[in-house]
Amino acid sequence: MSSPPAPSAAKTLFEKIIAREIPATIVHEDDLCIGIRDINPTAPVHILLIPKKPMPRLCDAVPEDQALLGHLMLKATAIAEAEGYGDAYRLVVNNGAAAGQSVFHLHLHIIAGRPLKWPPG
Ligand code: AMP
Repeated sequence: MSSPPAPSAAKTLFEKIIAREIPATIVHEDDLCIGIRDINPTAPVHILLIPKKPMPRLCDAVPEDQALLGHLMLKATAIAEAEGYGDAYRLVVNNGAAAGQSVFHLHLHIIAGRPLKWPPG
């Protein structure tokens, strides 16, 4: 059972990027999401795919978000393909601080371009 973070009126970092209040290298944008290059990449390709709907964590998703979550998965695959790594990429969602989440606005990490070991740290 996970309790949601306290509601905040403040915009998340990613809302500010979506609103062009903070600069980012944008590689994709559509009605539902934006894709930006991670400012601290862990691989030659490290893109964050961010829903425009500001959902703090994956575990905060509700059944009405099913189509949005599917859109993100399919778009992540299209982006990996466009980057030249359609056959070898990794998608990561860090859910919660103990799992490594630092920005509390759902995002998929798209990581590719080097050998990726398993299990991750
Ligand atoms: P997580 O730790 O899963 O919440 O991932 C947050 C990611 O956001 C990290 O990989 C950071 O490097 C990345 N990040 C933080 N600030 C920025 C920024 N201004 N532009 C692009 N990526 C960022």
